[in-house]
Amino acid sequence: MTTHTIPHWLDKRAHLTPDKVAVYFKDQAVTFQQLQRQSFIFAQQLSTIGIQQGHHVAVYAHNSLDLVRLIHALSYIGAVGVFLNTRLTRDEISFQIKDAKCSYILYEQSSQEFLGSIEEEGSLAGYAMSTIHSLEETPFNRVEEINLSHLHSILYTSGTTGNPKGVMLSYGNHWWSAVSSALNLGLSEEDEWLASLPLFHVGGMSILFKSVIYGMPVHLYESFDPEHVHEAIMEKGVTMVSVVSVMLNKLLQLLPPSEGYPQAFRCMLLGGGPAPKPLLEEAHAKNVPVIQTFGMTETASQIVTLSAADALHKLGSAGKPLFPAQIKIEDNNQKQPPNEVGEIVVKGPMVTEGYFERPEANEKSITTDGWLYTGDLGYVDEEGFVYVVDRRKDLIISGGENIYPAEIEGALQGHKDIIEAGVVGKLDERWGQVPVAFIVAEEDYLSIDDIQVYLQDKLAKYKIPKHFYFVKALPRTASNKVKRRVLADWLKKKEES
Ligand code: ATP
Ligand code: MG
Repeated sequence: MTTHTIPHWLDKRAHLTPDKVAVYFKDQAVTFQQLQRQSFIFAQQLSTIGIQQGHHVAVYAHNSLDLVRLIHALSYIGAVGVFLNTRLTRDEISFQIKDAKCSYILYEQSSQEFLGSIEEEGSLAGYAMSTIHSLEETPFNRVEEINLSHLHSILYTSGTTGNPKGVMLSYGNHWWSAVSSALNLGLSEEDEWLASLPLFHVGGMSILFKSVIYGMPVHLYESFDPEHVHEAIMEKGVTMVSVVSVMLNKLLQLLPPSEGYPQAFRCMLLGGGPAPKPLLEEAHAKNVPVIQTFGMTETASQIVTLSAADALHKLGSAGKPLFPAQIKIEDNNQKQPPNEVGEIVVKGPMVTEGYFERPEANEKSITTDGWLYTGDLGYVDEEGFVYVVDRRKDLIISGGENIYPAEIEGALQGHKDIIEAGVVGKLDERWGQVPVAFIVAEEDYLSIDDIQVYLQDKLAKYKIPKHFYFVKALPRTASNKVKRRVLADWLKKKEES
């Protein structure tokens, strides 16, 4: 295979548009040239503490300018960043550090107490990021050309269906992700992208590469605050925002029906999980352009995206595979015809080569010619639009009928007194399995009868949950996804007691 190299992307960008703003953060604005210089100095200081090409460096940090500089600094050295989710528990963090074979951990000063003596546990060198800035600068062999096949980062999956797995993402994966997204959404001189998703997830991190590759300012936020994001759209020239459905919902609540976003606002890129139809309809009613996407850590963010032109007449679809990507739907290794549900299998230059040191998982999910079995179920309609149905592991088979928990959860969430709902299968002598629902209700007076009546004209009879359990909150991963496997454990406990 020929190795493809490109100039280091931050150097190239600083050369092309030195004075354009790269990142807005709080009251600061940093141009590409400044970002390049600062990142390079940071890299020299990292070299002082001994970080070298090929080292795996764990990073524990919330979104900040320093994190952006660090991401680029590591790439000047050719070290691999292992970006940890700051909502994980201490044990989960120490697992990931060892699992990814990290030899350094860099963290925010404020998290020192939480992390404690994590260095000793993992036998690694630990430094607070702020202390590195006072170190001297040590020359090193700077990466001037990016080899697209080199490993850029290891990002862990959300751990929704099992233990998080470390996904190896190459420079090429990130490059192609950014390029493919631009081929879908187009580029505009005016574009400014808002990132309030954490950078340690691929949905957040991918915005940084788009910024450098497109020459586009990023409005970076420490975390998602609906008021701040609303204000940035209304007043600060933001044209694109990456959101998950909970965020979109909060933003819509802040937008009076008569108001609408400014003309220049281009889109909400919605991904990360299923999009409830009522939410999409509300966005449509308020004239908010929502572009649905399907993607996963393994695909370096979006791989299937609805184009703006199709957004309305294909409401609920995640769109078509991006330009260099392919998709097929399979059931028992057989390609499914249009509209038949099967496992979503994808291929493209943004797809990972595999999980770090997981030969078994790799063999199971990635073929030698690069097709990735996503573990998600979906179908493709006659026109090639992809619909994501649910996770394969969570499929409920009841009396021979397939039931997708997400469909039932979506219907339940349409009820005005239901805040959230999680559905799992329960073993049943007669039907094999039946669906049961865990519900977080807004009001105490909501009764099971009310819910059943409400669902009658929304779901076929066999899909209506046979049991309802009211709970205070649903178990969620550190990235806020419902852990149905924990609901299944709850169910078992209820049956035993
Ligand atoms: P784990 O792999 O550890 O169980 P995870 O799959 O939740 O966790 P991520 O890589 O963060 O980890 O999420 C990718 C998953 O999110 C997809 O496989 C899919 O299940 C879900 N998802 C993403 N986009 C969509 C979408 N548009 N519609 C439905 N589901 C989606
Ligand atoms: Mg997954």
